[in-house]
Parts: sequence; C-alpha cells; structure tokens
Amino acid sequence: MKITLLYGGQSAEHDISIISAHSICQAIMYNYYQVQPIYITKTGQWLKAPLLEGPSTSPEQLTLTAGDTAHWASAPGEVSSGVVINPGEIKVEGEETIVFPVLHGPNGEDGTIQGFLEVLGLPYVGAGVTASANGMDKIISKRLFDNSNIPQVPYEAFDKREWRESSEELIQKCEGSLLYPLFVKPANMGSSVGISKVSDRQELAEAIEVALKYDRRIVVEQGITADECEVAVLGNDDAHVSEVGKLLKESEFYDYEEKYINNQVIMQIPADLPEAVAEKIQDYALKAYRAIDGSGLSRVDFFVTSSYDVYINEINTMPGFTPYSMYPNLWKATGLNTRDLIEELLQLALRRFNAKQ
Ligand code: ATP
Ligand code: MG
Ligand code: MG
Ligand code: MG
Repeated sequence: MKITLLYGGQSAEHDISIISAHSICQAIMYNYYQVQPIYITKTGQWLKAPLLEGPSTSPEQLTLTAGDTAHWASAPGEVSSGVVINPGEIKVEGEETIVFPVLHGPNGEDGTIQGFLEVLGLPYVGAGVTASANGMDKIISKRLFDNSNIPQVPYEAFDKREWRESSEELIQKCEGSLLYPLFVKPANMGSSVGISKVSDRQELAEAIEVALKYDRRIVVEQGITADECEVAVLGNDDAHVSEVGKLLKESEFYDYEEKYINNQVIMQIPADLPEAVAEKIQDYALKAYRAIDGSGLSRVDFFVTSSYDVYINEINTMPGFTPYSMYPNLWKATGLNTRDLIEELLQLALRRFNAKQ
C-alpha cells in the first residue's frame, strides 16, 4: 500500500505542516509503507516528489528543508524537486492509496481538502468534511460546545460587515458582556495566527482589524488566567482519550513565536491534576469530539483555573505532529508509540471509507 502524504499548503501554518509531515513520514516508512509525498507550495502549486520506498530508506535521508520551495531532500541541504501536477492527479487509476492530509489551518484542516478527497473517492486520515469545518470554525464550534453543555469562557462573535457598519456598538457590546483582557481571534485559523490579547478599547479595535486580515468572521473572548491542558482523542465511533497533558509555559499567551520559535513550552504528561479533574477533562473532550462529529483524531484544548474550573478552549482536528507536539506525546505517555499511532490512523481511515461504500 502506498500512502499519499499531502503537506505544506497555502495557510499561515505552512511551515508547521512541513515539520509534522516529516515526522509522520518517518513513522509511515517504519510501518513498511511506500510514501508518495505531495508538497503544496505557498502559492498553491501541487508538486509530486519521487516515491519514497519502504523500510530501505533510512529516516536520516528524509531530512526536509523548509521554505517556499521545500521538497523532500535526499540528504540534508540537498533538494530533489517535484513535478507539478493537477490536484486530481493524486488519484492514479488502479492504484490503492490512503491519503494523509498533514495540513493545518484553512484549506487543509477545514473540510475543503477533505471534500476534494471525498469527490475523488480516496480514503483519507482524520476528520471528515463536517467535523473539519465544525472544528476549524471557532464560532460554529463554540455554538456546538454550548449545545453539549461544555463550559466555555464568555465570548462575542461578529463578521466584517457588522464591524464596518457598527463598530462602536460592537465595542460597547464586548465591553458590556466581557471583562478585559480580551482575546481577539479570526474564526478560522490556527497556531495563534491573527490572535491578539488586548486590554483596552483602542487595542480591541486594532486587534479586530488584524484578525480581519485572516478571516471575515471574528471571535472576542474573555481572557482567563489558567493553565492550559490538552487531551488527545483517537477513533471513529469508538473514540477514546489519552492522558491529559499540561503546558508549562513562560508567558501567559501561547502565541506563534512561543509555540514554534522560542520553544519555551514544556509538556507535563500526565498533568499534575486531581483525578476527578482529569476525568472531567477527558469526558468533555469526548463530548466535544462527538459534538463536531469527529473521526480519526483531534486534540482538545482546555483552560483549568487554580480552583480547578475547566473550560474548553478549542478542538484541533489535525493537530501538530512534530516530535515536540502534544498529540503524539500524549499517546506515547498513554502507551501508544508514534508508529502504532500512525498505523491506527491509517486503519481508521480505511474503516470509515469502507463503512461508506
Ligand atoms: P492552535 O495552534 O492550538 O490551533 P489557535 O490558533 O486555534 O491555536 P487558540 O488556541 O484559540 O488559537 O489561542 C491561542 C492561545 O492564546 C492559547 O493557547 C492561549 O495561550 C491563548 N488564549 C486564547 N484564548 C484565551 C482566553 N480566552 N484566555 C486566556 N488565554 C487565551
Ligand atoms: Mg486551534
Ligand atoms: Mg490548530
Ligand atoms: Mg489552540
């Protein structure tokens, strides 16, 4: 069986996708599969790289170079370029494949690629169309979490047109229902891109303009002083949860720089929490997964206050998968190594595909 690995992509999380894809590729190869890397450039071109052959290729040979023309390198620093293809050409008649879309953010994690793969009739790893769209959209997912009685911090949501027509009223509305500091977020994004923490009206208005560069729809949330805990979910209708992990961070806002550049974050797994609190988090995580119609995998993120109040922050249907990412490390701590985790994800993809046939 050949695994088609889609990575890169046009979202702001392009570079993270490359690092995730690299580590997933290594695990797939250990499982004796062939890997067909398909690199999507920042401008949306699809490049088909040479096929990577099973266990004979040592992972050291798979060093990946980042940047706009990233490809799978045959040796560190040495780049083997791909052939430009039409996206539909990832389906090759008579060849069986499972697609692993290692794409984060819009045009990857939001149901668009998933819909494309459905139309092509290819099995793929991870959430389906509905779950991807539900999970990526912070406004929709908040409505679904409310519906499932999962506690969240207070928030307001609006779109660009409303902001252009009545910004004064919207600021008043936010200030009426929420207490500073506030977090302003584009509805569809990830890796903290476009997110600002603000402490007054002037900053709020500026942050909304920043977020509007990434999406037409905006969420403004009440800021909370809390630990951030995350839990991994794996499975289709039979989904199960991992241990809970906690981020031990230097700063309060886990922004892009903190996540990927400073690497100031240490993961505590399992999180030092009373058992009942950990169980509550796991229970909410499964509820959230079902609320969005999850399948395959998700990482569900929570805020936990010093008095152990738990609030869901968000769900990520294609979480970071680098060796330093929470998702694979949560499973490792739960007794599932990354190779077996990848194998399980591939089997789940096939099972969902076959169930629909
Ligand atoms: P991811 O990379 O996990 O997909 P994201 O871009 O979807 O992240 P969020 O998780 O919503 O963004 O927010 C990014 C970070 O900002 C959080 O991890 C947390 O550190 C901080 N943050 C977000 N909302 C709040 C809030 N309401 N109160 C306190 N901190 C917050
Ligand atoms: Mg997110
Ligand atoms: Mg994300
Ligand atoms: Mg997050």
